[in-house]
Amino acid sequence: MVQIDLQRVMGNLETLAGFSSVPSPAVTRVLWTPEDMAMRAWLKGLAISASLQWREDALGNTFIRLEGSDASLSAVGTGSHCDAIPYSGRYDGTVGVLGGLEALMAIAASGAKPRRSLELLMFTAEEPTRFGLGCLGSRALSGTVSLEGLRGLKDADGVTLEAARGNVGYTAPLEGVRLPQSYYAGFVELHIEQGPLLEQQQLEIGVVSAIAAPASFFLHLTGEGGHAGARLMPGRRDALLAASEIALEVERAALATGAIDTVGTTGLLELHPGAINSIPSAVMMGVDIRDTDAARRDATMNAVLEATKRICERRGVSDRLEVINSDPPAACDPSLLEAIRNACDQTGSSRLEMVSRAYHDSLFMARICPVAMIFIPCRGGVSHRPDEYAAPEDIERGIQVLAQTLLTLSA
Ligand SMILES: [Zn+2]
Repeated sequence: MVQIDLQRVMGNLETLAGFSSVPSPAVTRVLWTPEDMAMRAWLKGLAISASLQWREDALGNTFIRLEGSDASLSAVGTGSHCDAIPYSGRYDGTVGVLGGLEALMAIAASGAKPRRSLELLMFTAEEPTRFGLGCLGSRALSGTVSLEGLRGLKDADGVTLEAARGNVGYTAPLEGVRLPQSYYAGFVELHIEQGPLLEQQQLEIGVVSAIAAPASFFLHLTGEGGHAGARLMPGRRDALLAASEIALEVERAALATGAIDTVGTTGLLELHPGAINSIPSAVMMGVDIRDTDAARRDATMNAVLEATKRICERRGVSDRLEVINSDPPAACDPSLLEAIRNACDQTGSSRLEMVSRAYHDSLFMARICPVAMIFIPCRGGVSHRPDEYAAPEDIERGIQVLAQTLLTLSA
């Protein structure tokens, strides 16, 4: 088994948490801000001093490579992200990047001679903070977002993606970002669970068999407003009452599949004009439906949309659908999962087969290569908060399992 330098990893996590625009323990690191760029320079330094190859693409996706003995074989990838939403914690994504780096360094130091190259990938902007689109880097790498789609992105200040990347020195053409299908033989992402199951069941490693993906959409409902006193009840066209029925339909449709993995949420409701003495004339509602099974997720969404038609017709309310995204869920690759299970056995780690209900860059990498994920416990299932915490021994175990998995896949 390879030797992990836990002190080095924890020191690196500590240093990385310092690249933040808010005081510790909170972390804020937004795409292409000075903190993000300083972090990138630091990571490059780590890679170079570990004698690993370093390169980045036109979006700042960063590739750190340990060359294998057979250059004709496609590489085995690992990695995650280092951006952090405002006032979040220090472990989301970073464990997969610094843990992946440690795994590569430990494998190199062990004298093992992998046939396939091992490559650590730090994705640009997994979080949607700046440009509103989550998994920006992995969407571009996998061809999930078009070049026009990328060029059309603007941040809240109206700065285009093209201008923003140019400002920090990324001037290469975007055409070069997309990876070919054969680039990776497999991709394994190490991540904190961001949920409570491992901790609750006192198990050490999550073997992720599927990554759920959201279908999210806005419904714009338009009825007729009026005075809350003068307008009598018969014949009202209250947009909120239609929205309320639709929200209940979201719950009903999600429960109706009978599958525990189907979830439906109405998380946004905006009323117009929004006065206590005024009938709501317009409502914008935001709905998020997730599942590990694409057909079932889409059937749930269709059930909601059919009910919407029915409800709106009966209430004299018009509806307009705006789909935000409907990415297909990803099933993890059986042979990669088997390698992770074997790595758990080799390291004496207990494990839980589970699905990821949050989405990750691996969801998009699944379009161009086999993927799997390794989860480690995080305290209370808490994430995206300053008190996010993963224990050093869990981080060490996760890296050990990752390194063992990478060795198997690259042999
Ligand atoms: Zn993450």
